[in-house]
Amino acid sequence: MRNSKFENRNPKIKIKKGDTVLVLAGRNKGKRAKVINVAAKSGRLTVEGVNVAKRHQRPTRTFQGGIIEKPLPMPVGKVMLVCPRCSEPTRVALTESEGRHVRRCKKCEEIVDKV
Ligand SMILES: [Zn+2]
Repeated sequence: MRNSKFENRNPKIKIKKGDTVLVLAGRNKGKRAKVINVAAKSGRLTVEGVNVAKRHQRPTRTFQGGIIEKPLPMPVGKVMLVCPRCSEPTRVALTESEGRHVRRCKKCEEIVDKV
């Protein structure tokens, strides 16, 4: 059994599930959306409504059929974290606060994570 906490420890990824990010590249460039999943190991994340693949699904007994829109993972480098305090796209610095590693916005110097 792998420890999921350990697996998610990728120092290059400073974005977490639930964060709002700004999309920097691709069809949804300029869009702000919520991160729904982060795959630290592959350096990819899934953003709500971004990089959506349309799948045409045949009707089954439980599903009536139609087009399913499913967001696919995209590289972390294609998004930028939007600071919840100043709502600016920003880079983050890792700092320590009360013995915990927290993220700090480089623009407004506010700590992004709840402590
Ligand atoms: Zn900020």
